[in-house]
Amino acid sequence: MLGGYAGKILHVDLSKRMFKKEILDPKFARAFLGGRGFGAKLLFDHLEPGVDPFSPDNVLIFATGPFTGTNMPKGQRYSVVTKSPLTGGYGDGEGGGHFGPELKFAGYDALIVKGKADKPVYIWIDDETARLEDATHIWGRGVFEADKIIKDDKADKLVRVAAVGPAAEKLVRFAAVTNDLYRHAARGGGGAVMGSKNLKAVAVRGFGGVEAANTDEFNKVAEEAMKKTYDNPGRKGMYDWGTWGGGGGWDLKQYNLWGIHPTRNYRSGYFENYEKIYGKNFRDRLLLKQRACFACPLACGRHALIRDGPYKGTFVEGPEYETITMLGSDCGVDNIEAIAKAHQMCDDLGFDGISAGNVVAFAMECYEKGLITKEQTGGIELKWGDPEAQMALLKKIAYREDIGDVLAEGVKIAAEKIGGSAPDFAMHVKGLPLPAYEPRGALGQALAFAISDLGGSHDRAWTYGEEITNPKLDRFSTDAKAELVKNNMRMRTLPDILGYCRFVLLSYDDYAKAMAALTGWNITAEELMTVPDKVTTLTRAFNVREGFGRKDDILPPRAMKEPVVDGPTKGRMVTKEELDKMLDEYYLLMGWDKDGIPKRETLEKYGMTDVAEKLTSRGILLS
Ligand code: SF4
Repeated sequence: MLGGYAGKILHVDLSKRMFKKEILDPKFARAFLGGRGFGAKLLFDHLEPGVDPFSPDNVLIFATGPFTGTNMPKGQRYSVVTKSPLTGGYGDGEGGGHFGPELKFAGYDALIVKGKADKPVYIWIDDETARLEDATHIWGRGVFEADKIIKDDKADKLVRVAAVGPAAEKLVRFAAVTNDLYRHAARGGGGAVMGSKNLKAVAVRGFGGVEAANTDEFNKVAEEAMKKTYDNPGRKGMYDWGTWGGGGGWDLKQYNLWGIHPTRNYRSGYFENYEKIYGKNFRDRLLLKQRACFACPLACGRHALIRDGPYKGTFVEGPEYETITMLGSDCGVDNIEAIAKAHQMCDDLGFDGISAGNVVAFAMECYEKGLITKEQTGGIELKWGDPEAQMALLKKIAYREDIGDVLAEGVKIAAEKIGGSAPDFAMHVKGLPLPAYEPRGALGQALAFAISDLGGSHDRAWTYGEEITNPKLDRFSTDAKAELVKNNMRMRTLPDILGYCRFVLLSYDDYAKAMAALTGWNITAEELMTVPDKVTTLTRAFNVREGFGRKDDILPPRAMKEPVVDGPTKGRMVTKEELDKMLDEYYLLMGWDKDGIPKRETLEKYGMTDVAEKLTSRGILLS
């Protein structure tokens, strides 16, 4: 067996109730390595273009990486890849916790699900055995209860569950896949695709391990990697403060001082009450203890308990920076107990919390402008900063009640349905709501949002830190930004492919040493560095095949026509000329043409002649 891999892919056809095991092809493994590299290629190959994301023909892929389940520090990631119901293009989310390692211990590198069950089911993988189990008794339940019932059914607390909540069952387009109760493979709407397939959960128990080609060498490399990670100052910062910040450095306070902290639906990048929602308050008032994913010395997760007020007694893992911002400042909420409670609701209802906060902020602005009435909200006074209104709306979205039915479509479709000026302040790219960073605060980050295959995501490139702190860069200049975005994208994509958490990274040489010992391949840092570029070109090809192009690499009208209203970025916008210049440069660096279509020679350089042929057969590339 190939070191680092379980050696099998499990195919599940829910319509036919059929399971099939496929031996992992070593050439495929070497070319795409794993994680979302596997997911991107499998999705491209297994899905015909034009399929509705909620059709039984859509494909849902769970894919681990070679580091997943090994003793590399933070080797626990898995990817959920599908055609996104939010964008109609490529979608993925990366989950942490213990689910990914367990899938590998059960003997599978990836799981490919298609079809639709005729009634609610969950997939039960018990080492080599896999079957469908009835899920009618957990359909309609929240994520927390579903997880518990499955563990009780199997009389095994160590079963690892990736489940969806009521939001997914109601086809809320930004529903998440949640594993280990609080870890989310979110953003692309994979949870909604699970719901559309009547698939409540995937539950796994595995008793195997991951073997290395050269065990002694791999253990040595992994130990060195653990030491480097442990000694990195960023490790201590994450352990002490998690992503809610408080210890200085690049955190919520700094983002306000930089003017990039979304406030009231991105009107501003500065929240006047940011100190109220800063990390020290969370730590002093809510923290119970740190929580780590599999093999992680950072433990950025926070177990928290609300000790006072109307939400007293609520236990929550989190919130983290993204939800503090999107459910906090972006909705004008400055009450940390309320933010923690709303975060917990998102977890249990099964939302992508970033998108949920973005949608609520959008709805609050619609209400302020009279585009949504109190009658449409079912009596909710949807005012900025009102946590009760926010939580009431979250429930309505999850169950598609009143205006919640429209908002469940995500901001892009909701804005089109609401009409008037709503599309001007719907803060998304390609249909995916923007995350917790103001897009007008630095031009490289603006480019990163515009070109992301997912849409409005910081998962591909996050350049703010370097753009603002590197004295050689001017954040409001287009100079050198295309290259910065490409390099940053490469650095952040490789861990997703290897099955490795992105917080506190190693060098490409470190990854290459680990991969060589793990797989037995003669693999170099240079070879590894090409794989993220290849995968990014492949997901671009997927999107191009679905009809996306340069016209879609654009920012929301608010970012390009409305200046930031106050704070350190007051007056800033991104002009069309600036974006066009950066797009031209980025496409050139990626080997794509001026319309953003990957060139034949680029696809062939990466060994993807088959992808080039498929684009040719659809008239996208000339033969
Ligand atoms: S840093 Fe946080 S998200 Fe990453 S592996 Fe550790 S606990 Fe999980």
